[in-house]
Amino acid sequence: MSQDCIFCRIVRGEIPCRKVYEDDEILAFHDIKPAAPVHFLIIPKVHVETLYDSDLKYQQVLGRMLGMAGQLAREQGLTDGFRTIINCGRVGRQEVYHLHMHVLGGPDPLRGGLISP
Ligand code: 5GP
Ligand code: ZN
Repeated sequence: MSQDCIFCRIVRGEIPCRKVYEDDEILAFHDIKPAAPVHFLIIPKVHVETLYDSDLKYQQVLGRMLGMAGQLAREQGLTDGFRTIINCGRVGRQEVYHLHMHVLGGPDPLRGGLISP
């Protein structure tokens, strides 16, 4: 856990979020600035800054993030597929340095500026 990290603060309940799902290892919540009709983030509860900083130690939690994506997307009404994005570092235009996976979908999610939400 990082004291200042905004997503760690969301995990601790210090900052509110619109929760999609939570278990012991991961949390999913709606993005505050949605770039698609449905746009939520799936994060590990443990503070890992980026994919660069991840390794096989995080295999289980990363697998859980991927493994839950389809179910959560379906529950959010995404019946025709969705897009997942993990931005990494400066080149990946990552803004929040707590690893997270974007899940985007809804009508016409591929149009306009969604590659780097
Ligand atoms: P990145 O560019 O790092 O991949 O994306 C970070 C995402 O986190 C952005 O889409 C941004 O809108 C979202 N975000 C930043 N701060 C907050 C917050 O306090 N609450 C929520 N729900 N989303 C946030
Ligand atoms: Zn964090």
